[in-house]
Amino acid sequence: MIVTRFAPSPTGLLHLGSAYSALEGWRRARAAGGRFLLRIENIDPTRCTPDYEAAIEGDLAWLGLDWDGPVRRQSAHLEDYRAALDRLAARGLLYPCFCTRGDIAAEIERAGHAPHGPEGPVYPGICKAISEVEREARLAAGEPHALRLHMDRAAALAGPLSWQDESKGEIAATPEAFGDVVLARKETPTSYHLSVTLDDAAQGVTLVTRGLDLFEATHIHRLLQALLDLPTPLYAHHRLLTGADGRRYAKRDRSLTLQALREAGRMPAEVRAMIGMA
Ligand code: GLU
Repeated sequence: MIVTRFAPSPTGLLHLGSAYSALEGWRRARAAGGRFLLRIENIDPTRCTPDYEAAIEGDLAWLGLDWDGPVRRQSAHLEDYRAALDRLAARGLLYPCFCTRGDIAAEIERAGHAPHGPEGPVYPGICKAISEVEREARLAAGEPHALRLHMDRAAALAGPLSWQDESKGEIAATPEAFGDVVLARKETPTSYHLSVTLDDAAQGVTLVTRGLDLFEATHIHRLLQALLDLPTPLYAHHRLLTGADGRRYAKRDRSLTLQALREAGRMPAEVRAMIGMA
């Protein structure tokens, strides 16, 4: 059975672009007699709010979407993410990173260059190079730290990987280009990459429908699936809607939030028609 999901982060109101993404997942599940799930990706305590969560659910219902089973909230599953980190750590695949953004920028400046990955400059390895003694001392002193993946080790361990993208076919995974990605942030014991991968598996998602802006992230998700013995769903990355100015819709475009359109008297059918989802 086909299982899709919509997985918004409650850091703002839904806009036309996010409505399109939600409708795409819903449409695919409903057309196939499958299940459509809603997951709230609220791991960032500094940016996510319960008000936005409530607004997202209200907006989806207004638009005519229904979802199966209870809503999954990532903040309720921090122990699961921690357990996965423990598994990776036990295999020597993680290391603590004490760097601030400033430390990283200064090191890149000093080195005069940094390879550029799909998410920006690749981490220059400062905390990978420190001695075991220094690492242990800083951990014992309680210094705040993130956890980074030893990308070279992880990719070597996993071997060649690929995934199926509905419109692009078989894609060879090249997570090495990202460098040592953060899997647990300083302020929360997980990251987008880790929690989205674990949750898609935990919820039995078979088809991941999401925007093309997350296409590159799939390279990392595929590697994490291999490292954590998780199944690989089919991926369908959809186009990103753009406004009249040619720029893609984003949370900053307050006039194109569903709430604003609703307040302006638009009906759900009209909003769906605006994004070709009538
Ligand atoms: N939570 C992510 C976002 O709001 C989407 C996660 C996903 O679809 O993989 O951008």
